[in-house]
Amino acid sequence: MGQTLTEKILEDHLVEGDLETGEEIGIEIDQVLTQDTTGTLVWLQFEALGLDEVQTELAAQYCDHQTYQFDFKNTDDHRFLRSAAGTFGAHFSRPGNGICHNVHKENFAAPGKTMLGSDSHTPTPGGLGELAIGSGGLDVTVAMGGGAYYIEMPEVVNVRLEGELPEWATAKDVILEMLRRLSVKGGVGKIFEYTGPGVESLSVPERTTITNMGTELGATSSIFPTDENTKDYLERLGRGDEHVEIGPDEDADYADQITIDLSDLEPLIAKPSMPDNVVPVREVEGTEVDQVMIGSCTNGAYEDILPAAKMLEGRETNKTTEMIVAPGSKQASEMLAKEGWVSEMMAAGVNFSEATCGACIGIGHVPASDSVSLRTFNRNFEGRSGIEDDNVYLCSPEVATAAAIKGEIVDPRDLADELGDLEDPGFEMPDQYTGSKTDLIAPDEAPDDELIKGPNIGDVPLKDEMGSDLQGPNLLKMEDNITTDHIIPATSDILKFRSNIPKLSEFTLSRVDDQFADRAKQSDGGFLVAGENYGQGSSREHAALCPMYLGVEGVLAQSFARIHKANLFNFGLIPLTIDEETYEKIDQGDNIEIVDDVAEAVRSGKEEFTVRVNDNWEATAHLDASQREREILADGGKLSHTKKQAESG
Ligand code: SF4
Repeated sequence: MGQTLTEKILEDHLVEGDLETGEEIGIEIDQVLTQDTTGTLVWLQFEALGLDEVQTELAAQYCDHQTYQFDFKNTDDHRFLRSAAGTFGAHFSRPGNGICHNVHKENFAAPGKTMLGSDSHTPTPGGLGELAIGSGGLDVTVAMGGGAYYIEMPEVVNVRLEGELPEWATAKDVILEMLRRLSVKGGVGKIFEYTGPGVESLSVPERTTITNMGTELGATSSIFPTDENTKDYLERLGRGDEHVEIGPDEDADYADQITIDLSDLEPLIAKPSMPDNVVPVREVEGTEVDQVMIGSCTNGAYEDILPAAKMLEGRETNKTTEMIVAPGSKQASEMLAKEGWVSEMMAAGVNFSEATCGACIGIGHVPASDSVSLRTFNRNFEGRSGIEDDNVYLCSPEVATAAAIKGEIVDPRDLADELGDLEDPGFEMPDQYTGSKTDLIAPDEAPDDELIKGPNIGDVPLKDEMGSDLQGPNLLKMEDNITTDHIIPATSDILKFRSNIPKLSEFTLSRVDDQFADRAKQSDGGFLVAGENYGQGSSREHAALCPMYLGVEGVLAQSFARIHKANLFNFGLIPLTIDEETYEKIDQGDNIEIVDDVAEAVRSGKEEFTVRVNDNWEATAHLDASQREREILADGGKLSHTKKQAESG
């Protein structure tokens, strides 16, 4: 049986395990990407690893999420990120240079490579045959330090494309069709591999719109084979020598197959407030539109904005519809400006904006209350635009522009009939991409060679190796379903300290007990005790890192949420499962002792531990962990573990 493209790339990079679905595999990472909201912690952790320079082929630090300056903390973060990139050998993309995925695609994404990024839309370069996966920041740190990335081998699903897109249907409609069919949960544990005769009718920028938004399906990644179109795209970027022809074997064995006939597609739109709430545009025609936004990492490329500019040529936007264009990269802005398209759009009424994520995460261009906004973005979760009562629709640039002209949602085919002189602008790439590279600083031209830390940048604590004795008070007894939001609240007044662990840790579990941080600091070690499902919610690493900083050694809970449990291992906190009776019996303040040479027992695979409480009663606790997790835990967490491995060569 032949191999899928995913299997081929994984096999080329495999350092541990077999490519069996569901089995843990370790892969070598070629490229890493990080952005400003996750990057500070990534670099602070890298500093803590004690390495001199990035070990991957390439690392890139982008500043795209929060480029608007509210106070010094943001600029402090940017300056620190620039200095970290210079010090450790990463490329640095300055604020305003564009969205990480767009700039990465233009400059670095290459066929056959693996990439890890601390951003959920990291899979975007799958459109060029790169296998790119989004992950937590610590995984990126470790990969930059030369460590493998561990993941359960996903199912590989074949999406077979047939036919060609008809007039006014676009790549956005391909991924909206996938979302319509599969829902936002349809890709969990899967990699979508696009094949079939329809692939060659799609250019690389169209393919990257599809792979970008595979994230909304919950997929681990999405990937296209490479072909003449890939070669052509790379040549236009001046990177033709990076082309490699790769694809699946003819008899590749897929877990499942989905077929989409491109010629059946029509303009689609995702209604508020879920990306899978997809209907044909004609079903919502006539809805008044207050705002139209073109941009984001999904549809912010030169090739996405050009059709909008062409549609607007010689026309004006509707008087009550604000139209904003925020390109995905400065290169796109520069090229559109050079060719006169920016002034054309401005004359039509467009507010031409900075190349940034911004509005996609509710920073700037917040819609008016209870109004309709049509966006070419990838997510329309309620409140994401910056206002709770938003009505955000997701669509292609063509559908968005048609709405800006008419002032209401309209299928561009119907608008074309009505206006008589509106033609499908089609899809066009420039002969050569010509943007300057001023704002992308290569490691060898970096202005900094040491870290610059303003007052909002703290150090990342490293945990010592686990000792033989583990005991301390139960610092806090909690109920069932404690979320990562309980552990570290995500409100902006608290998360602004994301780069300052000593300060952020003062808020640890403050939603449960505002005395907790002080009590934990005063105690020399200690435990947390919780009921069922401890740590549910987001993947926020700070929810394990801050308790670790405060000296917490472990958590005894009736059960753990999966991702938080992994984070506890990563930060060296032992997650022990206890039964209900034990949970009920332990009180806050009780002294807990794990009876054993704990480090030795953890390493040797012991699953049952005796817990002695107040020196007068005992109970059994369980440690459910893989051998790799046991080594990480006993070494004091993933950072210390990686450091130790690096030191031992
Ligand atoms: Fe994330 Fe939106 Fe930025 Fe894309 S444009 S990286 S989805 S915030």
